Amino acid sequence: MATDLAKIAKDRGIKYFLISYTDLFGSQRAKLVPASAIAGMQKNGAGFAGFATWLDLSPADPDMFAMPDPESLVQLPWKPEVGWLASDIWMDGKPVAQGPRIILKRVTAEAAKLGYVMKSGVECEFFLTNPDGTAIADAADTATKPCYDQSALMRRYEVITEICDAMLSLGWEPYQNDHEDANGQFEMNWTFDAATLTADRHVFFKFMAKSIAEKHGLRATFMPKPFLGLTGSGCHSHVSMWQGKKNAFEDAKGELGVSKLGYHFIGGIIEHAEALCALLNPTVNSYKRINAPRTTSGATWAPNTITYTGNNRTHMIRIPEPGRFELRLADGATNPYLLQAGILAAGLDGITKKTEPGPRLDINMYTDGHTVKDAKRLPLNLLDALRAFENSSTLKMALGESFISAYAKLKHAEWDDYASHLTQWERQATLDC
Ligand SMILES: [Mg+2]
Repeated sequence: MATDLAKIAKDRGIKYFLISYTDLFGSQRAKLVPASAIAGMQKNGAGFAGFATWLDLSPADPDMFAMPDPESLVQLPWKPEVGWLASDIWMDGKPVAQGPRIILKRVTAEAAKLGYVMKSGVECEFFLTNPDGTAIADAADTATKPCYDQSALMRRYEVITEICDAMLSLGWEPYQNDHEDANGQFEMNWTFDAATLTADRHVFFKFMAKSIAEKHGLRATFMPKPFLGLTGSGCHSHVSMWQGKKNAFEDAKGELGVSKLGYHFIGGIIEHAEALCALLNPTVNSYKRINAPRTTSGATWAPNTITYTGNNRTHMIRIPEPGRFELRLADGATNPYLLQAGILAAGLDGITKKTEPGPRLDINMYTDGHTVKDAKRLPLNLLDALRAFENSSTLKMALGESFISAYAKLKHAEWDDYASHLTQWERQATLDC
């Protein structure tokens, strides 16, 4: 055994391990295991009833085992006696085909066959609210243009720096924290890395931000649009493909310093954007962030069309500098593993087929979007996104048919549940019909 968790527990004073996995809806599930039992768990995994979580399994299925990845170990900075471990889920001696971390590994293995590693960085936006989530936590945070508000940021110094200190101690190389464009909204950035590592960190970041906020009597929410008039919480993703130490998206002679390979990758994202929305914008609420009307700050900062541009934040894809692009589509509800897997699957398809992304649009899409006649629009709701997702033979091939059908089935049930509610709006609009 390369990494002996029992020995690490002794050396570092870890009393308990959280053996954790992420289900299809991004919920983190775990068993809390005493260090005395970790050797057995490292060998055989921690047992779960898969049906009890969002994986589309049956109560008749045998035990599912979460096999911890020792390389993912994080000692909780706010409770160092606990070691957190990301894990892969197995059943009947095989990886579970719809396990999100397993799906990401499957796509990264395909990229490796072509000689590439996708690197990515995520910008996690979140709100700090009161404990029941009904209002932002800071009553004084009322500016019309609150982005980068220095005083509002400093009023949350204790929470933000506890999270940032934790990232520093974990070696994530965080480099900035700010107040974002909505009242009560923040963003914290750490350094990009290989997609699987970024996904593990992204999952852990959400757990950490929620846990530390709770310690301070607050609530951290990544809900895409918790307050209608305010800017929503995105999860912008910065993407590049690497061959060893060389960034294969970088080309001094390419348009905006991006290589042909980079444009083919972008072409794949553009071709599959509608289907990708089911993964990147996975909730009913997600569609109140994209396609949203103007917010009180003056802009939503979220895309409404499937277009790309240079250093301009009004499009779905922005090329801010040579060697990478920023996909501004995903929101805070996205499953960190499926986010990376979806982006990579679409990008690899673009690379394989040498898909051209079409013309770059150097216009303000918020004000002049109507002048572009053939710009494809993003889905207007989860149902439309799910239909595109189910019909995508490319995603089926790359991510696996059983994953696509399991995910679509659970998400359709969520949509049906939403649609079965009689809203106040309906009564108001229809009572006197
Ligand atoms: Mg931001």
